[in-house]
Amino acid sequence: MVNIADPPDGYSGNGFFATSLAHAVGLARKNSLWPLPFATSCCGIEFMATMGAHYDLARFGSERLSFSPRQSDLLMVMGTIAKKMGPVLKEVYVQMAEPRWVLSVGACASSGGIFDTYSVLQGIDRIIPVDVYVPGCPPRPEQIIDGILKIQELAGNEPLRRRNSKEYDDLQHKYGIE
Ligand code: SF4
Repeated sequence: MVNIADPPDGYSGNGFFATSLAHAVGLARKNSLWPLPFATSCCGIEFMATMGAHYDLARFGSERLSFSPRQSDLLMVMGTIAKKMGPVLKEVYVQMAEPRWVLSVGACASSGGIFDTYSVLQGIDRIIPVDVYVPGCPPRPEQIIDGILKIQELAGNEPLRRRNSKEYDDLQHKYGIE
């Protein structure tokens, strides 16, 4: 039998399999991430390759891209983010429904990259929380896929109550997000 997705931890026997609700929800979330590609420059081209037939991100349940923040749960930031784009990026993040994750792809999104100038944001984590960083200038599609797999790990193992926790509230407040 071919497994489309690995089953979560649980108990199995003759004709039954039992697991916790959190594991079942995690399994569904991790295998149906809907990315919102916020691509501003060259790293976005690598993402296009990642979506193409050769690397085929659809294999991981993420073929359904959304350019509506309300219909996506994975914000992928790819490219140089000018400071004047910062408020736009933050607005997009704020409009996404919970649970939401953020993948910072490439040196520019993660740290400003080679653009250590007055006009470029020196890392998107100055304005929104980031879950996983993908290094490289540009990162190869394999690295982007690796980043998605790490987000999947987080989504699959996240406790159901995390988004209602004080720690999560504090994190959002730190970024001025209510
Ligand atoms: S990290 Fe490199 S490839 Fe990616 S957007 Fe910046 S300059 Fe372009």
